[in-house]
Amino acid sequence: MAANGENPREDEDHEARCRRCGRCCYKKIIIGQTVFYTPFPCRFLDVETKLCSVYDRRRSMNPGCLTVPEGIARGVFPADCPYVQGLSEYVPPVEEWNPELFAGAADELVLVLNLNDEEREKFLSEAKAVG
Ligand code: SF4
Ligand code: SF4
Repeated sequence: MAANGENPREDEDHEARCRRCGRCCYKKIIIGQTVFYTPFPCRFLDVETKLCSVYDRRRSMNPGCLTVPEGIARGVFPADCPYVQGLSEYVPPVEEWNPELFAGAADELVLVLNLNDEEREKFLSEAKAVG
């Protein structure tokens, strides 16, 4: 099981297509070839405006922030993201959050995802509700 943080919206020819929904800037859990979105945003995402607060410095501030090609290759954009429209082989992430799926690895994921206290409490209580 692997997990990574976040994601991008960059590259000038892609930039105009981004709708600024912010969904790709939420942390993700990757199991095998499957990417799961979490409800936990990158710490640099302004969840009100849905914009990156460090956009010009994002790669240095957040090494886990992917370029658009990297994000496409790793399947981190939602199915309706303009970046992946028309890509017939593209497999989008699982967007429905089901913490019970990760009950067996919840303690590890809390660390890998670098959750804050409130997020950790929420995740552990939900993940372990059935675990
Ligand atoms: S999911 Fe797509 S449209 Fe939404 S912010 Fe990310 S790149 Fe932009
Ligand atoms: S650093 Fe900015 S662009 Fe990158 S994932 Fe975080 S909020 Fe999104």
